[in-house]
Amino acid sequence: MNSILTPDSTLQRFSKPGAARFSLQRRVAASLLFALCVFVVNSESFAQTTRPAIVAAADWGSNPQQIADSRKHTPKYITIHHAGVLWTGEKTPVEFVRNMQTWGQKEKAWPDLPYHFLIAPDGSIFEGRSLEYEPDTNTRYTLAGNIGVEMMGNFEAQRPSKAQLESCAKLVAWLCQDLKLELKDIRGHNDAAPNQTTCPGKDFYRYLVDGQFVGWVTALMKGENVEITPGPPLEGGPTEEIPTS
Ligand SMILES: [Zn+2]
Repeated sequence: MNSILTPDSTLQRFSKPGAARFSLQRRVAASLLFALCVFVVNSESFAQTTRPAIVAAADWGSNPQQIADSRKHTPKYITIHHAGVLWTGEKTPVEFVRNMQTWGQKEKAWPDLPYHFLIAPDGSIFEGRSLEYEPDTNTRYTLAGNIGVEMMGNFEAQRPSKAQLESCAKLVAWLCQDLKLELKDIRGHNDAAPNQTTCPGKDFYRYLVDGQFVGWVTALMKGENVEITPGPPLEGGPTEEIPTS
């Protein structure tokens, strides 16, 4: 009994619970601060790019044929193409995509569009072949693992538009993020099939060679605002921009 009444015991009975409450408040505050820091760091490191608007195959009237299961693949590369046909604006992008599908089925026995995505000069993105299947090509290279992204136009003779470059970078950033692809695996058709083609045309290939394209994609994946512009023409390259309407 006596010992309970000593000053030390009083401290034990009254001060220590107070100290414990104080300590608990500190721990809660520290935990909240920690959680806040984790949130801030995460939201900076993992800021995400969003899926760009894509015209679904069903919405442009796609009419694909069955593709064999043996052609299923796991995407690794993003391989960029140009159509290689001068864009004059006489056909609409939808007509272009439909014509390419029909032509490929009749003339090349391709069951569907040879590409997974097609980008019009006005920046519209069209869904082509399902990502589940490898693409098709007129050249020789290992098709499994490639996502084919095609831009309408001929970049040996005309320049891509700002809208087209922006859509291409946004699409590629989203694909890299969503499918966990590596930036080093973004390439031109001519990288996949050396000495067989000039695709994706010198006025687009330049952005792959000088690292600008990967720079745009990287910034988009970090959620940064990035100015994507065609910049000055290449020396000896095309000077006319593709018509966007
Ligand atoms: Zn190509």
